[in-house]
Amino acid sequence: MTRVAVIGAAGRMGRGVLRAVLEAPDLRLVAAVDAGDAVGSDAAGLVGLRPAGVLVTPVTVDAFGQADVAIDFSTPRALADCLDVLGTTALVTGTTGLDEDAERQLERRAALGAVLAAANFSTGVTLLLDLVGRAAAALPDFDVEIVEAHHRRKVDAPSGTALALGRAAAAARGVSLDAHAVHGRSGQPGPRPPGDIGFHAVRGGDVVGEHRVWLAGEGERVELGHVASSRQTFVEGAVRAARWLAGRPPGRYSLRDVLGLTQP
Ligand code: NAD
Repeated sequence: MTRVAVIGAAGRMGRGVLRAVLEAPDLRLVAAVDAGDAVGSDAAGLVGLRPAGVLVTPVTVDAFGQADVAIDFSTPRALADCLDVLGTTALVTGTTGLDEDAERQLERRAALGAVLAAANFSTGVTLLLDLVGRAAAALPDFDVEIVEAHHRRKVDAPSGTALALGRAAAAARGVSLDAHAVHGRSGQPGPRPPGDIGFHAVRGGDVVGEHRVWLAGEGERVELGHVASSRQTFVEGAVRAARWLAGRPPGRYSLRDVLGLTQP
């Protein structure tokens, strides 16, 4: 039985993860962490299930004591607070909008416990990252533009997935994304410099998540894309990753490891 903590338990993703954990015979919910109104309520009640005896708590030093693995979909701030108190509990995190400090904190934390961070837990996007890298390398002169769309409540832009797609294209061309990323265009940006990787964020309604990568050349264009129509795909990916990660030695792991796509 794998003991699981859920961070951001009252959120859109957190509730999906809570339900999946509570309904899985091989997983046991031992902690549910959130902030605000949900604190103090029974975690199972948040998803309309019979009380499971686990109350939602804020981040505290003993919140994760018994957990083998924590699944996090919260905010960069909440994740940073949790990293300070996670101890050796393995961590699966899907929180996006992490800055360089947060990335370094994750890296340091991996010396103590297993860490798997992914901007997108869908199998389709894991494949898309591969395809984009291959296309960017095979078509080195084509212009890369990444267009993403999400629901109106999303707080970071561009999406973590869009940035991961940009990194895949940049890495395949042996360049740094930071040096080539261009976010939106307005005014008089002038002709497009070769090598730019453009990002465009559309926000509206209840769009779960869409990503399209253009590779535009003279007289032709390749488009690679992915549409998530349900958050359940992310929930299932994260729970699968948590099962896989629990009990692993300290270090950084990726979804590619979980899916067996890593080259030997
Ligand atoms: P949400 O706003 O619905 O949920 C976030 C939850 O975190 C809320 O319940 C909030 O109360 C809680 N929280 C905020 N501050 C906290 C704190 N200090 N301590 C504890 N809890 C705190 O957001 P969401 O749509 O569920 O997304 C959460 C994150 O997951 C975002 O960064 C989003 O981009 C990311 N996400 C990733 C994937 C993926 O596959 N990797 C998929 C969907 C969303």
